[in-house]
Amino acid sequence: MAQDGGLAALLQRKYPQAHVVRTDKALYHYASALKSRYLRNAEVVNKVVFDSKIHVVRHALGLHTTVSRVQGGRLAAKHEIRIAAMFKQVPDEFLRMIVVHELAHLREREHNKAFYQLCEYMEPAYHQYELDLRLYLTHLEKSGMRLWQTTGPLGME
Ligand SMILES: [Zn+2]
Repeated sequence: MAQDGGLAALLQRKYPQAHVVRTDKALYHYASALKSRYLRNAEVVNKVVFDSKIHVVRHALGLHTTVSRVQGGRLAAKHEIRIAAMFKQVPDEFLRMIVVHELAHLREREHNKAFYQLCEYMEPAYHQYELDLRLYLTHLEKSGMRLWQTTGPLGME
């Protein structure tokens, strides 16, 4: 493998810009647009948020939780998708890959063949983006330096 400086340059050349999804509301709309395009009949997602408490390690990129609450005497499943806050400062391709991953869990709980087929259906370059994201995570672990910065109005970070 190339020196880490080479890897960083390669990733930046391949993905020049950070995405523009700044807020939880924008993230919810982003995920909803993908869901209504590809998974119209899957269960409703109630909430999609960036979560600064999720620490991304290479094997756990996101976290999908189903919270059961009693509503009007019935038990209703609420689907919440939590995306690690580090995904605020990545290219659109990486954000899309992680959102697609979490949406696919609405149908498939396990990381099985059907799950990855669903991911590829929503994003044909899913595996390439996941590979490149893992390279970026390796870069972050080694250097601690982000490759993409958000521009424009920022949240609390
Ligand atoms: Zn998963």
